[in-house]
Amino acid sequence: MQSLSGESVVVIGSGFGGLSTACYLADAGADVRVLEQNEQLGGRASRLEREGFRFDMGPSWYLMPDVFERFFGAFDRRPGDYYELTHLDPHYRIFFKDSAERRSADDASGGTPRARGDRVDVTPDLERTKAIFEEYESGAGEALERYLEKSRENYEVGMQHFVYEDRPRLRDYVDPDVARQARGLSLLGSMQDHVEDYFDHPKLQQIVQYTLVFLGGSPRNTPALYNLMSHVDFNLGVWYPEGGIGSVVDAVADLGRELGVTFETDRPVERIKGREGAFLLETSDGPVTADLVVSNADYAHTEQDLLPPEKRGYDADYWESRTYAPSAFLLYLGVEGDVPELTHHTLVLPTEWDDHFEQIFDDPQWPDDPAYYVCVPSKTDDDVAPVGHSTLFVLVPIAPGLEDTPAMRNRYRDRILADLAAHTGAELRDRIVLEERFCVSDFASRYNSYEGTALGLAHTLRQTALFRPPHRSKEVDGLYFVGGDTTPGIGMPMCLISGELTAEAVLADYGD
Ligand SMILES: Cc1cc2nc3c(=O)[nH]c(=O)nc-3n(C[C@H](O)[C@H](O)[C@H](O)COP(=O)(O)OP(=O)(O)OC[C@H]3O[C@@H](n4cnc5c(N)ncnc54)[C@H](O)[C@@H]3O)c2cc1C
Repeated sequence: MQSLSGESVVVIGSGFGGLSTACYLADAGADVRVLEQNEQLGGRASRLEREGFRFDMGPSWYLMPDVFERFFGAFDRRPGDYYELTHLDPHYRIFFKDSAERRSADDASGGTPRARGDRVDVTPDLERTKAIFEEYESGAGEALERYLEKSRENYEVGMQHFVYEDRPRLRDYVDPDVARQARGLSLLGSMQDHVEDYFDHPKLQQIVQYTLVFLGGSPRNTPALYNLMSHVDFNLGVWYPEGGIGSVVDAVADLGRELGVTFETDRPVERIKGREGAFLLETSDGPVTADLVVSNADYAHTEQDLLPPEKRGYDADYWESRTYAPSAFLLYLGVEGDVPELTHHTLVLPTEWDDHFEQIFDDPQWPDDPAYYVCVPSKTDDDVAPVGHSTLFVLVPIAPGLEDTPAMRNRYRDRILADLAAHTGAELRDRIVLEERFCVSDFASRYNSYEGTALGLAHTLRQTALFRPPHRSKEVDGLYFVGGDTTPGIGMPMCLISGELTAEAVLADYGD
């Protein structure tokens, strides 16, 4: 194995990508220091604790357990050395907010009761899910099996050849071996077209498409390759780490400490000075020098705010022309009593959701009929809420860059709580004992994210694989990037892998 012995590396930011690459680089012998501007480690996976309620502020779905196994395995550890996992059953519940038109269309088609204004639990039992699909549409159970087979194939080939292996240049894709592997993958069409090949019923299309929200895209702007997410969801399962996602942040940080990484919080980096033998970083607390720098801060922030103009690989027009993943309106709620209508993960979807996506991507405005997600971790974990209470958060994806004044947040909060009560029966309004909100401007200020995007660059076709910004800076030798804006992309598992890919690039350039 190559070594980085003697090299000092500063990692700017402690999201999953920063934590992961710090572990790989320290393991290779580098002297690694992580500088985080916020008061805690974890980046978008921050924690909020108030009056006995504990919230994961960002990610809450622990997907792709295989990726976490692989990550810890690289250091001869297992996730179980740090945290216990529970397989959620059901994985999640979906409530459909049926419109009058949808209801009469279902009635006219002689739909079963299932198809008229309803909810669905997706469980680890595939036969049960197939039976539910069959109730909506004759033949859909068998179609789901075929769909998932394709999804499994895409996952296996995609992970091996396009995710774990970095392919930053076009010529990497004309490699005959890769081309052979890629043949047969439904790569380039839209998810919407792909899904229509299998299912007619719009609700079934939604069930297999909602995971695109994890990628920050819509069914019309995300390539069909990402149907691999259904394998992730239906076959690999939805898990919960005891203590919440914060336990996973602690685990990766603890692993880092075991490998010799040092962490400093409340330490914003304000400037990266060009390389003259060593980097000089201006921080809130004095200068820091390093041989090499890896930035886990958002790519646009690092380039536009920390580097001088002549050292930037991209100009302001580039960032302006990108498609960003949604921001979010988040309500963190401590509630008296249980919420029997909801499961650990619940999705509430309008049956015609094109309008919501349009109001995110094409005509940015607060959605009229939002699709949203509710998480109730206290269903699975007694320690996240005081006795007799529930910890709950509501996430509404909205367009980045929207104005989010206190008055708008108030109005929207009332609207969402009314919508939740109307469509799920969960009436929370008279029993909320703790409430915090987080929205577009908070994403921008807490994480320096462009226009307050919650997730970074969306996975559109033009922003997938080699079309995402690279791990190596285009202009500055010794400067690297890691995290959701680069490859492979958005989500905790992808950011862990990004850490591995960035470390590989550093080792290829400086290792001996
Ligand atoms: C609301 C929400 C829900 C999500 N749900 C899921 C989910 O269920 N499952 C899932 O897998 N993923 C989910 N994600 C996505 C996932 O959280 C992210 O893709 C991933 O955590 C991002 O990691 P990252 O490596 O890009 O770093 P980030 O988390 O973006 O961290 C970057 C860090 O850099 C720091 N930083 C920025 N500028 C500076 C500076 N100048 N100096 C020092 N530090 C700086 C920031 O403070 C931050 O800590 C969700 C995200 C959000 C926001």
